[in-house]
Amino acid sequence: MRISPRHPRAASLRTRARLAREMRKGVVAPEGLIAHGRGEAFDYLLGERSSAGARKAERAAAAWLLAARRPVVSVNGNVAALAARPLARLVRALPGLRVEVNLFHRTPARAARVASRLRAGGIRTVFGVHPTVRIPKLPSDRALVDREGIAQADVCLIPLEDGDRTEALRALGIRVISIDLNPLSRTSERSDLPIIDELTRALDHITRAIPLQKAQARPGFFRPFDRSRALADAFATIERRLTRETRARAPRPSRHR
Ligand code: ATP
Repeated sequence: MRISPRHPRAASLRTRARLAREMRKGVVAPEGLIAHGRGEAFDYLLGERSSAGARKAERAAAAWLLAARRPVVSVNGNVAALAARPLARLVRALPGLRVEVNLFHRTPARAARVASRLRAGGIRTVFGVHPTVRIPKLPSDRALVDREGIAQADVCLIPLEDGDRTEALRALGIRVISIDLNPLSRTSERSDLPIIDELTRALDHITRAIPLQKAQARPGFFRPFDRSRALADAFATIERRLTRETRARAPRPSRHR
């Protein structure tokens, strides 16, 4: 299908078309399309741009990834389909960052397809294709992790995650940085450093913040982050936007009696 560049929502349509294509190739799960729709709805409410609060969280995330001894980013089908290149740029800025495939709907073939999608985007080493360790108390295949990756991580960046796994990673003592447009999701509520922003925008901002945060970074020293404040900022952004829209449509008092 050809998408006219003049269409007011051309970027969103292109993203949807890409996800549908990647689903047909078996990289994205059908459920991934639903998760994307949920994200898009929140992006509308947030004004489809990164708020000041999100930018602050992205700078803090760059600082935590630099301070980490073994940082890992956990990748599912949607992330591989939408953000293989932004992720490759982040790895170039932070070469110690390990990239691990983690899938709810896992088959060996799908894990291999997600890994090859990441390699096509420029990521050389991909972990998690043959995971050998299980995270305790997590029933789904998302519990399967790589001995050289998440199993040893001290900081884990988890874009588009679910709440149970966020909780399970934290229970292992791993610091969790999440990227999720929904400030009401269990992931955002449970993460140590919730970034309420769109995946590719967030990854680009973290990458750009890496060189700026480098001078202050010390291994093992994590600057405190006010997670409640980050969530409150996102709700305030949505509230301001809805108030503006409501006011713009409120009936004006008539001048004629
Ligand atoms: P939880 O268990 O945390 O409540 P959930 O059930 O909402 O999670 P999923 O249905 O797996 O989890 O959805 C993943 C989340 O990813 C959704 O909250 C959605 O807002 C978010 N999301 C989807 N696409 C994007 C995107 N491109 N950028 C950022 N967030 C996204």
